[in-house]
Amino acid sequence: MTGVDDLLTRRAAHLSGALSVLYPDDPIHVVRAFGPYLYDADGHQYLDCMNNVPHVGHSHPRVTEAVSRQLALVNTNTRFLYAPLSDYADRLTALLPDALAVCFFVNSGSEANELALRLARAHTGRRDVVVQNDAYHGHTTGLIDISPYKFNGRGGGGRPAHVQVTPRPDPYRGVHRGSDSGPAYAADTAEALARCERPPAALFAEPLMGTGGQTVPPTGYLSAAFAAARAAGAITVADEVQIGFGRVGSHLWAFEAQDATPDVLSLGKPIGNSYPLGAVVTTREVAASFDNGLEYFNTFGGSPVACAAGLAVLDIIEDEQLQRHAADVGAHLLHGMRGLMREHPCLGDVRGQGLFLGAELVSDPTERTPATQIARDLIRGLRRERILLSTDGPDDNVLKIKPPLPFSTVDADRLLDALDRLLPR
Ligand code: PMP
Repeated sequence: MTGVDDLLTRRAAHLSGALSVLYPDDPIHVVRAFGPYLYDADGHQYLDCMNNVPHVGHSHPRVTEAVSRQLALVNTNTRFLYAPLSDYADRLTALLPDALAVCFFVNSGSEANELALRLARAHTGRRDVVVQNDAYHGHTTGLIDISPYKFNGRGGGGRPAHVQVTPRPDPYRGVHRGSDSGPAYAADTAEALARCERPPAALFAEPLMGTGGQTVPPTGYLSAAFAAARAAGAITVADEVQIGFGRVGSHLWAFEAQDATPDVLSLGKPIGNSYPLGAVVTTREVAASFDNGLEYFNTFGGSPVACAAGLAVLDIIEDEQLQRHAADVGAHLLHGMRGLMREHPCLGDVRGQGLFLGAELVSDPTERTPATQIARDLIRGLRRERILLSTDGPDDNVLKIKPPLPFSTVDADRLLDALDRLLPR
């Protein structure tokens, strides 16, 4: 039995079938990684174009060193005083608008959004929520309820009564099309807020949508949607679990690129470069409403080791100028992919900011018919060339490109060359 077969058999014996495995026909047994590369048990190298969690590069030695050093010293909880907690809160808030001044540290994106929901409800005394269609905010009971990607997806239980859905602000395939569709989508959001059975507590938004299909909203959408939420007395939550920390290139945060500041910001995935860490940052007013006597205690959240990981990530982003790098390599890749559209009409739309890109595959460019099978075949073909990419969006026809930030122009050219050879002409 090969190592892969053995691991598959043992997985089937003691792990839930609800866990999926990438490339079920030909799964990868990973044993190590570095930068944008993963290596399997036979020593083969894979180009990772899809993991945004190892943000500063897989197994970055400075993160490993910071975590190991702190783990050897002390790892405990936030009821003790320790410098890494305050150091990290100082550093993170210094990188955010002044209004976002109070931090909570958690262990995942789901925990961050779950807390964001509690903050909004505590501040407003309300329960109802408006969310974007096809959004995903996390795996807890409370968050499945506000994630159309899940409650409308396979095995989902449908939309709960306390949730209203606003259309995905997608200028290519959405209900309003074109770069000037921002006001129309914001008007839809205002309507969804008004549709709530009881006044809404929150509007949750992914400034760039991940599971929704790597969408970039039209100009002006997010700020107008936030204004509508505030007019309805709701808290605005920006879920930057996928996209924060410089990935969008032009700015450190995607909400900044859209001129809209949230009342609550959720962070996860890249924040600790794969060490479990998440954060919620909010205003002093919202934080004061939550501080009502019910203690917030999180055993692992904000531990000295988690904060050490977070501090190392911020240092590396700065020292290696990864935000600028994301802007430069992202622009190169976007330009190259737009060039491919001439030869490959199945590339219906290519979009993105920095190293968060999407390419929508269609079988008919005029009708924009989703080409789910072409997307599947392409992912398999890339796998054979040891290039790792995945798809998302409601029709599973959008290539999601979000590599570790050390991804270089040479790596980008390798991906472009493979796409040119594998996509139908
Ligand atoms: N928000 C968004 C936008 C996400 O994409 C995800 C994870 N895919 C989450 C929240 C949940 O994060 P986690 O898996 O760390 O709980």
